[in-house]
Amino acid sequence: MFDVIVVGAGPAGSTIAKELSEKGIDVLLIEKDPKIMEKPCGGGISKKTLDLVGDIPEDIIECEIRGTRIFSGEKVLELSHEKYSGVTVTRKNFDGFLENKAKKAGTKIIRGEMVSKIENKEDEVVCETVSGKRYSAKFLVGADGPTSIVYRYLNKGKRQYAKSSSKEILMSKKKINEIFKNKFNIYTDSIKRGYGWVFPRKNNISIGVGGDMNILETTAAFKEFIKKLEWEFGLILEIDFNKIDNWVLPVYNNKANLASNRIILIGDAAGFIYPISGEGIYCAILSAIKGAKFIDLALKNGKKEILGYEKEIKRVIGKKLSYGLLILRIFKKPVHYAIKYLKNTNITVKLIEKFF
Ligand SMILES: Cc1cc2nc3c(=O)[nH]c(=O)nc-3n(C[C@H](O)[C@H](O)[C@H](O)COP(=O)(O)OP(=O)(O)OC[C@H]3O[C@@H](n4cnc5c(N)ncnc54)[C@H](O)[C@@H]3O)c2cc1C
Repeated sequence: MFDVIVVGAGPAGSTIAKELSEKGIDVLLIEKDPKIMEKPCGGGISKKTLDLVGDIPEDIIECEIRGTRIFSGEKVLELSHEKYSGVTVTRKNFDGFLENKAKKAGTKIIRGEMVSKIENKEDEVVCETVSGKRYSAKFLVGADGPTSIVYRYLNKGKRQYAKSSSKEILMSKKKINEIFKNKFNIYTDSIKRGYGWVFPRKNNISIGVGGDMNILETTAAFKEFIKKLEWEFGLILEIDFNKIDNWVLPVYNNKANLASNRIILIGDAAGFIYPISGEGIYCAILSAIKGAKFIDLALKNGKKEILGYEKEIKRVIGKKLSYGLLILRIFKKPVHYAIKYLKNTNITVKLIEKFF
């Protein structure tokens, strides 16, 4: 029997596995994909995320980002370099880097096994995989992303999702620098129920749209967004629209169970994505670090439950997500309207920085 089983080797799962293994805890990390895969993602890693992760190798940095530009019609709002910088990465490299850290810390990793059943027993938690293998541990962490089976085990009912369509498009470094600069570029006006992004990388850009839409609406919004960029910058973006990445982003539910005696949820599995910006990697890593602290405490004190995690994580992350969702429900496009109608740019910047 392991001390802890972690389901899912994304940023959340690999980080909690590493944190626990470094404390001498016996951890098994189970991942369904046989190999580390590219994931639909802008690959934007904010400065506050880098502060949590520590140094990352130069060779996985695609572009060093110096600030964020938010476009709203004719107006452009620049968010500060100090707070709104970071790097871009490919998820294959970034997730691989974090998984390697877990491995070096002593985590046992099994790839190519999909967890399909969970049993929460008196003295252990058991995970069964599609191939029929069974693994048991004192505690279980659900880090299995937006479609989490661990979330479904702890919560009945339908989960809400925002949708996204995105694509990486090859572009010369010169052109990227000329048009998109080394900034996170956010477009708030052209997409009715969401926003669009362009994040620069080494030899390509990540373009996407996301928001409160169904997949058909997202795909249509993506096509419109591409047209707008082509028209505005005189570009010809050769995109095969049959091969765009459509994916889901979980919407946080403050009533959902995020823990139940031997089990906790972290990252996307817990619904931890900022609703206004779509940033999720920061929350994935922060919830992993917090989760590791509470599991360590439970093991040290010989407890059968992971006490305190849910309350703490709802205070640290959940509160901001709930406010963000409320603002989104009332104003629909809060960032767009703030830039359009608020004259005092200092107040606008402060408001946006609080919730973006
Ligand atoms: C289009 C798009 C763009 C985005 N851009 C950004 C961005 O630029 N910056 C940012 O911060 N965030 C971004 N996000 C959000 C970000 O991708 C997520 O918040 C982040 O991946 C969460 O990490 P995680 O480890 O919780 O989950 P994931 O990265 O989803 O990892 C979960 C892992 O669990 C595995 N798994 C799932 N089910 C099982 C199972 N049953 N058994 C075993 N393994 C399983 C999966 O294969 C996966 O590897 C974006 C999201 C989308 C959809």
